[in-house]
Amino acid sequence: MTALTDKVAIVTGGASGIGRATALLFARQGAAVVVADIDAAGAVAVAEEIGNEGGRAVAVEADVAAEADCARAVRTAVETFGGLHVLFNNAGIIRRTTALDLSADEWDRVMAVNVRSVFLMCKHAIPAMKDGGSIVNTGSGWGLKGGGNAISYCASKAAVVNMTRALAIDHAKAGIRVNSVNPGDTDTPMLRDEARQLSEDWAAFAADAADRPMGRAGSPDEIAQAVLFLASDAASYVTGAALVVDGGGLA
Ligand code: NAD
Repeated sequence: MTALTDKVAIVTGGASGIGRATALLFARQGAAVVVADIDAAGAVAVAEEIGNEGGRAVAVEADVAAEADCARAVRTAVETFGGLHVLFNNAGIIRRTTALDLSADEWDRVMAVNVRSVFLMCKHAIPAMKDGGSIVNTGSGWGLKGGGNAISYCASKAAVVNMTRALAIDHAKAGIRVNSVNPGDTDTPMLRDEARQLSEDWAAFAADAADRPMGRAGSPDEIAQAVLFLASDAASYVTGAALVVDGGGLA
């Protein structure tokens, strides 16, 4: 037996970074995985990687800001693998600007991808979790404190953290646990793109240890391990929690 034997999981943003690492780990731990991403080719590549390791996975092209796509991801889990037990709401985007340089459309898109998506995925997934389940939402250290040049992102991730608590209360009696995982800087394509948006050299950006007592960025695998804990029965009495995985940054 492994942590997710006989479980079916959806991972949004599963084509890259934290989502990819988690999809691979979930599959190694026995789950059948729906890899949902707006990047169709990337999702297929991860599903194939899982298949090549002897795991079970299917890719779904989905924009998590669109309700029909969220519903389709859930339907795919149920129709392909016979149910749904774990949902990792992880897809997210960031704009590294102050309020002055952000358009209203950009604000709306960040909110749609980071916040509306969690609502929509939960709305469609919870009724499919007939035997209870575990939902993990990706917040951020910047959902728990402020951050510079990222007003829409900070607002969106604070919403994810508190929406998680509200969902946990509403669905506890149905046996559905809902928690957030809150990474600090993690070495993914998103973080490298942030360095580019800020016109900062990656090496200097990554070496900036002011925010990080451990003096390094995390790896996607280190976040995935925390997600696995929350997703599995090892966390059977954990719900509504905001688990911080940031090398001590928030401390
Ligand atoms: P990433 O860019 O490597 O991966 C994000 C994935 O989400 C990509 O595959 C992308 O195609 C997908 N995606 C984007 N918009 C989507 C949409 N509308 N519908 C479906 N998929 C979409 O980034 P990552 O660093 O792995 O980020 C994953 C999550 O972790 C995000 O929610 C991010 O905000 C959060 N996070 C990251 C860090 C970090 O330092 N990397 C820190 C804290 C929180």
